[in-house]
Amino acid sequence: MAILERRELGNTGLKLSCLGFGASPLGNVFGHVSHADALAAVRLALQHGINFFDTSPYYGGTVSETVLGNCLRELNVPREDIVVSTKCGRYIDGFDFSAERVTRSIDESLARLKLDYVDILHCHDIEFGSLDQIVNETIPALQKIKAAGKARFIGITGLPLGIFTYVLDRVPPGSVDVILSYCHYSINDSALLDLLPYLKSKGVGVISASPLAMGLLTDNGPPEWHPASSELKSACRAAVAHCRKKGKNISKIALQYSLMNKEISTVLVGMNSPKQVEENVAAALELSSLGIDEDLLHEVEAILEPVKTQTWPSGIQQG
Ligand code: NAD
Repeated sequence: MAILERRELGNTGLKLSCLGFGASPLGNVFGHVSHADALAAVRLALQHGINFFDTSPYYGGTVSETVLGNCLRELNVPREDIVVSTKCGRYIDGFDFSAERVTRSIDESLARLKLDYVDILHCHDIEFGSLDQIVNETIPALQKIKAAGKARFIGITGLPLGIFTYVLDRVPPGSVDVILSYCHYSINDSALLDLLPYLKSKGVGVISASPLAMGLLTDNGPPEWHPASSELKSACRAAVAHCRKKGKNISKIALQYSLMNKEISTVLVGMNSPKQVEENVAAALELSSLGIDEDLLHEVEAILEPVKTQTWPSGIQQG
């Protein structure tokens, strides 16, 4: 069986499969997922060499963490064979980036995941908190969690790219090991590209999530809660229809586009079934052997050009 490429994550020494398993769908956020499907998806991912699994207490109000933990336990996966990340500060009932809450949060997450430690603990969607609190209170609390051996590395996540420079310019070097950016490295929005030299200069590893733009670049389309404008949704629908008319799958080329940039250590895709794992692994392997369908890519890029890098507001106004 062909195995997926592994890439180094910043200065962490971790080697991640270029395709990572986003476990938010296991929290039923894109529709109900049976335990059998979840287990089969995780099993197949492991068989194909996917070693990176990302979750959060927020996804499905802790359901994603519990389901992922159950699957990893049932499959008896050797701990050193996988890289597991979870998050803190964002919960189904709101945001709390206080030192007290995040310190409690990691213990709750470890219990649900049935693990002694996570490889990466991210502050989840920090633009919804005070960035100065993140710098002065949350990151120092996460350093203590790291020192206690409950998390090997610390990360920050969120949508607006400015949050990463704000925090990284203010914390001691080495206190944030990775960033997780989403919806900024897909065919319709590749704004993350401009930030990559800065992140490299800081020695910070880069995880890019949502290559399918949280469902916009899929045949099924986005979930109802998707925050994109109707203009962006309709341009993506046109791109999907174009691919379908040509007998092509938009998700395949969208994923391949994100995987092409090797400065990005891993691309996290949300997967809820063995079929999706199979398709996404096949897309990644085909990219390594045959490259991308350049003609189709140019056609899709042309359709999405009028909405290129169009994003949506996220978070609170920072004081
Ligand atoms: P995504 O762009 O990966 O899209 C996921 C959707 O696409 C789901 O509906 C999934 O079922 C579907 N899909 C997956 N493979 C498919 C295929 N081959 N064909 C058709 N449909 C397919 O968006 P996402 O799930 O939001 O992001 C991926 C992961 O990244 C998340 O699960 C999460 O782990 C992480 N993430 C983190 C943050 C954050 O920290 N703020 C934000 C977004 C995503």
